[in-house]
Amino acid sequence: MSIRDNIRRVEDRIAAACARSHRDPAAVKLVGISKRKTAEDIVCAVAAGLQHIGENRVEEGISKIPQVEEAISGAVTWHMVGHVQSRKVKQVVKVFDLVHSIDSVRLAQRMSRLAADADCKLDALLEVNVSGEASKYGFQGYNWYRDAAVMEGLLEARQEIAQLPNLRLRGLMTMAPLGADEDLVRRIFADLYGLREALQSATDSVLPELSMGMTDDFELAIEEGSTMVRIGRAIFGERA
Ligand SMILES: *Cc1c(COP(=O)(O)O)cnc(C)c1O
Repeated sequence: MSIRDNIRRVEDRIAAACARSHRDPAAVKLVGISKRKTAEDIVCAVAAGLQHIGENRVEEGISKIPQVEEAISGAVTWHMVGHVQSRKVKQVVKVFDLVHSIDSVRLAQRMSRLAADADCKLDALLEVNVSGEASKYGFQGYNWYRDAAVMEGLLEARQEIAQLPNLRLRGLMTMAPLGADEDLVRRIFADLYGLREALQSATDSVLPELSMGMTDDFELAIEEGSTMVRIGRAIFGERA
């Protein structure tokens, strides 16, 4: 199966999920996650029409992105989807356009400062841990609708981050637990959707993007309101 065929197949599945949930397919961006795949694979995907590419490791992005840009003519939007250590923020600012994984106010402050030094602005999403798994990065979001302290913490973080001059806060991101049953996965996506609505109305602001859904669960995510699906294996094949 070629990368081109895989992209067409994923686009068809996105369109079908949109039809089921009465959504416009143009409102769902397909972000191909190329971690542990080669720059050549990315070039193929871009040639097949993919405009959004994501990586989860800074070094890997830093080495592949210039190679891809040299080989293509059109523009690609580069997404950072993995945890960013503070000593790597400078490199992130250099090559990425949108960071899905803002998981602390400190990280956001540092990113805005270094983006200002580089005279650029970055789009950013807050990663929220709505499943409550201890192993996950992200702002604490478990039970946000019942636990006032959790909602308070999220509102404070949003407030501080929204003030940073060189970050544009665009929305929220989450990951469902691996291998969880469909009902739980759906509830986690619905929780993030509800949290976005609650943050918007509490702050009278707009958070248009919801980054949720991967190869195993993107159709559920779309049915629950995702605007960005992050798809690796269904496009690039299994990872070694
Ligand atoms: C790897 C990865 C993905 C894509 O996972 P697949 O299951 O291969 O689609 C999405 N988001 C993040 C944060 C990832 O690290």
